[in-house]
Amino acid sequence: MVEVAVIGGGIAGIQAALEIADHGIRVHLIEREPSIGGHMAQLDKTFPTNDCSMCILSPKMNDVARHPLIVLHTCTEVTSVEGEPGSYRLTLVAKPRFIDSELCNGCGECVIICPVEVYNRFDAGIGVRKAIYKPHSQAVPDLVIKDAEHCIECGLCYDVCDLDAIRKEEEERTFEIEVASIVIATGYSVFDARKKGGLGYLTVPDVITSLELERMINAGGPTGGKVVRLSTGRVPKSVVFVQCVGSRDTSIDRPWCSCVCCMAAIKNAILLKEKDPGMEVTICHNDIRAYGKGYEEYFNRAERMGVRFLKGLPGEVWSDGRGPALQVENTETQKIEILHPDLVILSVGIGPGEGTCQVAGILGIPLEKSGFARPLDDKLGPFLTRRPGIYLAGTATAPRDIPDSVAMGGAAAMRAFTDTLRE
Ligand code: SF4
Ligand code: SF4
Repeated sequence: MVEVAVIGGGIAGIQAALEIADHGIRVHLIEREPSIGGHMAQLDKTFPTNDCSMCILSPKMNDVARHPLIVLHTCTEVTSVEGEPGSYRLTLVAKPRFIDSELCNGCGECVIICPVEVYNRFDAGIGVRKAIYKPHSQAVPDLVIKDAEHCIECGLCYDVCDLDAIRKEEEERTFEIEVASIVIATGYSVFDARKKGGLGYLTVPDVITSLELERMINAGGPTGGKVVRLSTGRVPKSVVFVQCVGSRDTSIDRPWCSCVCCMAAIKNAILLKEKDPGMEVTICHNDIRAYGKGYEEYFNRAERMGVRFLKGLPGEVWSDGRGPALQVENTETQKIEILHPDLVILSVGIGPGEGTCQVAGILGIPLEKSGFARPLDDKLGPFLTRRPGIYLAGTATAPRDIPDSVAMGGAAAMRAFTDTLRE
């Protein structure tokens, strides 16, 4: 039976896997994390329609889980490839979950009883999770995972699990699959705001990243949808977004535009204004890039709601004793302005996914200087690579928004499907 591999279970990989499988071809969807969904699962709403992100994503994730022709490999990475177009042999390594996936029903009793709390990466560090945990409430597969690094082997979870599904020991598992073609959908990584030390992230109270805001503003997030100053627990009366943090910045070798941060800031500014029309919301920017369908109208809507767009970026954010402060040269008035908001949100840019370099290296796909995967020729189709039978999707090649990632996942899927017809 001819099969296809999709590497990466974010929205682009999910779309690719579903489209190939819907054409009757068996797909291996390979994801290094314990759940598929990628970054989109962390978002609250999507622009420019303010649709709930998980309301779009979750049905697709469940379609993957139920699809008879999709084999889902989570906690799994590709370690080598051999062969040629039409017959690529991939070696996969599945990391231990310490859970019997045949037995666990995802009830979560073990999570409730576990006494260990650690940093929760899914909530961008704002919340905590247990040493045994479900990545999030709508995770697919609906299984927990035990974090062996933080587990203290207190034994409580073993006692509470009626199904005896938790394992003390489990080895990683190496296995091979053979596929006609491969779709790389390894996604993106978020800029580490600590690298722009002057902007006060983790040194000035109430300076957070746009990803932390996404988790806070999300009703399913650690604050139940309430945006608060972490220093006081109070709702801020004034908020300033700082754009292009880790984007369009040659001083740190990141000259590219991250494509989505302007619209994401506008979306969150609109959501904040909807929650509290009296809140002062300012977006400090280089220039607003509202290039997509309906984006300009969305920008205009934010302006009508009273969001202030201030052209100019601060070089520094400091604490004035009551909260964060920042100085901006308004390039439209040539005046220096000093702002004292309750909350500063750093709109962090996006860069190549951690897995892109590794997977591209294994599969022989060159990288751009930026670290994104290089397509054969953007004009011929950004999903083609120099290796026949290997395709690119989503943000593996460059920053792009959700509609573009979905479209690219579909395009890569059709090429991969066409390949299988030749076999
Ligand atoms: Fe429930 Fe057991 Fe699975 Fe924990 S391991 S979620 S207790 S079935
Ligand atoms: Fe948590 Fe480990 Fe104790 Fe289980 S054995 S409850 S995972 S600390």
